[in-house]
Amino acid sequence: MKRIALLGATGSIGRQAIEIVEAHPELELVAAASGTRPVDGLAPLTQTGGDLTELLERAQPDLVLNAVVGFAGLPATLWALEHGVTLALANKESLVAAGELALAAQRRGGGLLLPVDSEHSAVFQCLEGRPAEQIDSIVLTASGGPFRGRTRDELEDVAPEDALAHPTWNMGPKITVDSATLANKGLELIEAHFLFGIPYERIEVVIHPTSTVHSLVRFRDGAALAHLGYPDMRVPISFALTYPERAMTPIPSLDLASGLTLEFHAADEETFPLLGLARAAGERGGTAPCAFNAANEVAVAAFLEGRLSFLGIADVVEEALAAADTAPAHDLPDLVEADEQARRLAERGLPVA
Ligand code: NAD
Ligand code: MG
Repeated sequence: MKRIALLGATGSIGRQAIEIVEAHPELELVAAASGTRPVDGLAPLTQTGGDLTELLERAQPDLVLNAVVGFAGLPATLWALEHGVTLALANKESLVAAGELALAAQRRGGGLLLPVDSEHSAVFQCLEGRPAEQIDSIVLTASGGPFRGRTRDELEDVAPEDALAHPTWNMGPKITVDSATLANKGLELIEAHFLFGIPYERIEVVIHPTSTVHSLVRFRDGAALAHLGYPDMRVPISFALTYPERAMTPIPSLDLASGLTLEFHAADEETFPLLGLARAAGERGGTAPCAFNAANEVAVAAFLEGRLSFLGIADVVEEALAAADTAPAHDLPDLVEADEQARRLAERGLPVA
């Protein structure tokens, strides 16, 4: 039996995870948490809001699936890594914000960190634990979101509902907006850097509209391995929950004979500046990734509330990053402070109502 704590149980990832758990008698949900909607009865231990590490302490799970959205997932990520409890990580924001601190906690705890993000699950599977020196580069694929191919002029007055119509993935609102701005790929670039120990200049992003190739790894011998499949998050969720078993899922494997074509393009970083801003924050290091994430969370929330334009998201993040003190964090309180400082800077950059 694998005893699972599911954080973010009411979300897009959370609901798909419940489906996977229900299909496998060897997976047992021992704890479930959400932000605001009650989850009573879903598991023996449940919690809504509050400090999720209290729930984890009580539950003592074998695996934590962190599917909370945003920086709020950070204490749970650090708890699992520090305690050597397998962490299935959907909550990329926590790894982006914590960076080296999360890796240090993992080294102390000695547990597994299994990515749930589809691109990183793909890379993890292509790597099969091979050391960084065998890798030439990692290629993260991006669908390009609903605004792929548009110019800045054409993005001037797009509304939240336009940004929420993602072409290939059905996800929660925050990551859907991040996919439309390419901030999501920026977060994933930083996530890949920390997960796989690869410098930023060897992590590439390409646009691949159908999300059939989930990512690729190029090796030093000239071989490139890719991970393909229909875009369905139940595959990487199931992979992480049942690792190393690779259990059955209801998702069919690719139909090639009906005429599968694969298309790739360079990303348009001028129209979608958040990708480049994320890369710069990653290269700057310290708490710059934490500040990038915090400012982006504030800007996306303001956009969804109709207080900020779509193009304004990148402007707010750029200004907050330029003003942020990005000295490295030594502990969780340092990170919380860096996060709060960037949030204040971003709030200040929002248009006055
Ligand atoms: P969502 O908005 O659908 O769900 C978020 C969940 O987090 C909800 O259950 C909510 O109650 C919970 N939550 C929010 N704030 C909380 C708090 N303070 N304390 C406790 N719980 C809180 O989001 P989602 O699309 O499921 O995404 C979850 C995470 O997975 C995000 O980090 C996202 O980037 C990542 N991710 C999602 C997908 C996807 O397909 N949805 C794919 C890759 C990665
Ligand atoms: Mg992803």
